[in-house]
Amino acid sequence: MRCAIERNELIRVAACVGMNGRRRTRGTTASTIATTGDRVDGTPSFSIFQGPVKIIFRHIAATFVLRDVIDSRGNCGALHETSCMTVVDMGVSERAIEIRREIHRHPELGFEEERTAAIVERELDAIGIEHRRIAKTGVVGIVRGALPGHVAGLRADMDALPLTEKSGEPFSSEVPGKMHACGHDAHTAMLLGAARLLHDDRANLRGTTVLLFQPAEEGPGGALPMIEEGAMEDPKIDAIAMLHVDVRLDTGTVGFIPGACNAAADEFHVTIEGRGGHGSAPHNAVDAIPAAAAVVLALQNIAARETDPFATVVVTIGTIEGGYRNNIIADRVHMTGTFRSQNPDIRRDLETRGRRIVENVAAAYNAKGTLEMIWGYPAVINDAELAETFRAYMEENSSVPVLSPSPTMGGEDFAYFAQRAPGLLIRHGVRSEAAGSIHPGHSPLFRIDEKALEFGIETLVAFARGVGAGRVRGGSNA
Ligand SMILES: [Zn+2]
Ligand SMILES: [Zn+2]
Repeated sequence: MRCAIERNELIRVAACVGMNGRRRTRGTTASTIATTGDRVDGTPSFSIFQGPVKIIFRHIAATFVLRDVIDSRGNCGALHETSCMTVVDMGVSERAIEIRREIHRHPELGFEEERTAAIVERELDAIGIEHRRIAKTGVVGIVRGALPGHVAGLRADMDALPLTEKSGEPFSSEVPGKMHACGHDAHTAMLLGAARLLHDDRANLRGTTVLLFQPAEEGPGGALPMIEEGAMEDPKIDAIAMLHVDVRLDTGTVGFIPGACNAAADEFHVTIEGRGGHGSAPHNAVDAIPAAAAVVLALQNIAARETDPFATVVVTIGTIEGGYRNNIIADRVHMTGTFRSQNPDIRRDLETRGRRIVENVAAAYNAKGTLEMIWGYPAVINDAELAETFRAYMEENSSVPVLSPSPTMGGEDFAYFAQRAPGLLIRHGVRSEAAGSIHPGHSPLFRIDEKALEFGIETLVAFARGVGAGRVRGGSNA
């Protein structure tokens, strides 16, 4: 069977192949591309090619399947475009690394991200993307594709941690006591890289992409204020994703799972009150120290004895303070801790369980115990259909392998976005022994393998394109 190739399609392919020599050819069929490129000079000829051919033009790599012999006049059996993916060109990833280092040198804590927000605005202006301030130091940018489609949200957090950097990186923090030790500098830089690629290709982009640069993820939380100020409306976001660097996964990979992928992170404060006295006469006092010690141990029973072993719960006491000196019986001890849980029912009961243990164990020591809860972020629940459709889309349209990392008990206020639209928390592999990218987040030694940034950018762009085109979609958790 013979049929004519659409003329513009042929021109497009020829143009793609012609451009190829100056572009990267990461991924499959590089040798095929090279051969194709050699042969395209003047009138394109595809007569020797059958099977999938990946052709890269500007930022877009298209896979064509040439089903039958095509002759030099463009007669063929069929030429099918099967996929269209983004290849991050060197200029974009190098720029992302520069921006990441600029942000890294000048870390800012939650709702203080004036300088970081200004960098984001400067870069969006340079690209030509409309943007607005939101939630004090947040920025929302909008990339409007030329073709009709759905609305994707991409979220990057921007804040740093109150920690002094000891990574030894040449671009280490210039602010003592503040450090980008969770990778939010890289998240922001990658979203800017993705923004450039989406904007440059907006003539072929279906739908709209909303770029959400969020303050204060590490606390007190910037996601809710952004949502309350309308970040997810106008245009209304149909599906939303975020990346988080993860030293468990190798550079060059990403990963996600359906359902709960991290934990609700709730804070609690415990106060034990006794009665002070002389260290030599305990019988005349009520010692708050042993009561507190017993409470610390007993609280672990919530995880160890009171909840289903398959329903994950973590109880951590992070601080304990009390007393005056060696020979004074402490009248008061104050402790702070965190509960982590994934199941909402278990989460709801943590306060009651904690209070029962604190009050009654303290009472057994003749002291008075109180527990106060400070509710934190809920668990991020990845939309199952969104995870499934995006995995399929990535397998078809990207060379980045998608893994299925186990959940963590970390907290993440992206949960609020994911409660309002189908959401996906994507783990972004940055592990590299060579780059020293092996330390966990929140460590003063934390480093990121910057080679990973291009894969993150590619993943963000793929999500936006897939959602825009209606091929990546969610709603199963609604
Ligand atoms: Zn963090
Ligand atoms: Zn983080």
